[in-house]
Amino acid sequence: MAENSTVKGGVTEITPRSEDFSRWYLDVVRRAELADYTEVKGCMAIRPYGYAIWELIQATLDKRFKETGHVNAYFPLFIPSSLLMKEKEHVEGFAPQVAVVTRGGDEELAEPLVVRPTSEVIIGTLYAKWIQSWRDLPVLINQWANVVRWEKVTRPFLRTTEFLWQEGHTAHETEAEAQEETLRILALYKEFAEKELAMPVLDGIKSESEKFAGASRTYSIEALMGDGRALQAGTSHNLGQNFAKAFGIQFQGRDKTLQHAWTTSWGVSTRLIGGVIMTHGDDNGLVLPPRVAPYQVVIVPIPRGNWQETVLPKARELQAALGAQGIRVMLDAREEYTPGWKFAEWELRGVPLRLEIGPKDIEKGQVVLARRDTRAKAPVPADNLAGAVPALLDEIQRSLFARALAFREEHTSRAATYEEFRTFMEGRPGFVVAAWCGGADCEAQIKADTQATLRNIPFGSENVSGTCVRCGGAARGEAWFAKAY
Ligand SMILES: [Zn+2]
Repeated sequence: MAENSTVKGGVTEITPRSEDFSRWYLDVVRRAELADYTEVKGCMAIRPYGYAIWELIQATLDKRFKETGHVNAYFPLFIPSSLLMKEKEHVEGFAPQVAVVTRGGDEELAEPLVVRPTSEVIIGTLYAKWIQSWRDLPVLINQWANVVRWEKVTRPFLRTTEFLWQEGHTAHETEAEAQEETLRILALYKEFAEKELAMPVLDGIKSESEKFAGASRTYSIEALMGDGRALQAGTSHNLGQNFAKAFGIQFQGRDKTLQHAWTTSWGVSTRLIGGVIMTHGDDNGLVLPPRVAPYQVVIVPIPRGNWQETVLPKARELQAALGAQGIRVMLDAREEYTPGWKFAEWELRGVPLRLEIGPKDIEKGQVVLARRDTRAKAPVPADNLAGAVPALLDEIQRSLFARALAFREEHTSRAATYEEFRTFMEGRPGFVVAAWCGGADCEAQIKADTQATLRNIPFGSENVSGTCVRCGGAARGEAWFAKAY
């Protein structure tokens, strides 16, 4: 058994990533105590360590939403089933996935209630009441909530029947404003994913067949996971007037005429945690970008001699000093575990920086800092910690992004012919970029032949000319294809 796939002293091993990516992923989720299976098929419990990552994601996104003028509200979990029927495309898209409540207490319900798969419908009925005049616009509301989509095959964080997310729902006076909002949020998601999660993403427009049910246009950010599969990490939809017409969201315009509002919706979910695991993790477990790490630094005192009188007070002092700098720091002073066990345990949990301190370090006026991403270890003068730790955390954040970007570039190929396309897809997994005519038939045929789906058409690629990789017709842009989660 390879040393780096084994955690010494009692913590059990993780399947090596290169051996079985899917098994590795589940091992990391379980061993790092991010989530667990429950008695409810397809529903996971998010454990405290995993939930702490979600809280950090929430906090940083929520700040961005508020800075761009959005406010939070809360809407009901249930939707009367007749309401869901009002927007035709929407109901067709979601009907196969909805859970329905037919009984309340000991009574059969006159009208069954759908558990929200998303909230356009219920929010639409309220916007119809709240919006009367152009003066009431724009409405910029976000909801943090759970939703339910009945899934046959599930995987923690990536696809579960119930999951947590945020859903923004906005209403605007003009089509241009709705489009501007749709793209503003897409850009916000991209900036967030790249800066906070160190996860490079492609932003672009979805094809007709992959767009949100009921939307005029769907945009997405797409990331590439460590096994070469794509992950849709967030979507932003321009809903046009489709929902406004279905739910009667009308207002008196500046010219006194009655008009339908232009609406948008957008969301990201706990799936992002799966994205972080699969973008950065390695054979030793989780690797967390410092900005979303519940603990950015773990201090492990080395118990030698009268360490409780010497090392421990110094470790506490460092913990307090780093904490005062706003760094999330954990002191692992447990006596029932050896330092070696703790090293492996916190590596498995992806803590970006480990600080070791023992009697010899105190004599030398130093501590030892070990990076999780490179596993490089070096002594640092204790006096320099206030500067060295934040600098190293920044450096780790940057280098994780650079590593992920380099990986994506290495795993992106350009196909000029269909034969090339198929060869790439059968070979090393990743993105394949190819010109596409815009036809749903070609898209479907590509999927049938290779299992790859059209992830999106990145901005700037819409105007690329050439001939469709599948049919040879005139291209309407360059699309990015991949096998996806
Ligand atoms: Zn074609």
